[in-house]
Amino acid sequence: MNEISDIVVNLLADFVDKTEEFKGNSIPKCELKLVDDIYKYVLQDDCEYAIDVQESIQRAYGLCYITKKNTITLFIDIKAGMTIISSTLHEFTHAYDFSLMSNCMREKNLRKVQANASFRLWSEFHAEYLTYLYLFRVNGLSKSEIEVFEGLRGELEKFFGENQRMELSKLVDFTVRLYGRYMALLKTYPDTMKKYPYRFFVNKDFLRLYDYLYEHKTFDSIKGNVSELESVFRGLERLSRI
Ligand SMILES: [Zn+2]
Repeated sequence: MNEISDIVVNLLADFVDKTEEFKGNSIPKCELKLVDDIYKYVLQDDCEYAIDVQESIQRAYGLCYITKKNTITLFIDIKAGMTIISSTLHEFTHAYDFSLMSNCMREKNLRKVQANASFRLWSEFHAEYLTYLYLFRVNGLSKSEIEVFEGLRGELEKFFGENQRMELSKLVDFTVRLYGRYMALLKTYPDTMKKYPYRFFVNKDFLRLYDYLYEHKTFDSIKGNVSELESVFRGLERLSRI
């Protein structure tokens, strides 16, 4: 059963049109729920899973949740306020990614598809890239593109400065999202933005990750090559710490 309202159907049609991603694919089967406490709803469906990912659920304003019955529920926290639209587009990108990959891999169990850490990280990049690309194209910017970039670089420096001892997967999760946002800025403003901005790469391994993502911004570019994607992220695991 698809419980997506006309407003969301129209938003997604515009999103697909402006980003030119997912064209020709139907909206993934899922439910969209605006809730006041995502954790509480996940706990009702799957207590073990909820406790496992409690920390990440409680930090997030949105969640692409695969239920025990193998259906997709997109939770958006009503506290997201102004960012309800961007959170919705972000979570829908995950729903597209996991559904399309499930077809490609002939793996009906969506939790197994989601369990692939490399693909999940790539989907975080993809979701931020497409959401910001859409927002930049529809709304433009409230300040100059240079200022927007400096904001992103500031976030990156602050995060790495404060979290030197954090496990690598969390550093990568944060970084790929930021690279997604930057690439959306670069794609929208190619005349003022540089492909390799100054002081934006923590080390060579992250630069290599950036290059890979730059060449693989679409689902079509990675769908047949998940093993390559995995080797890129595995390569990162071996990197010397920053
Ligand atoms: Zn996400």
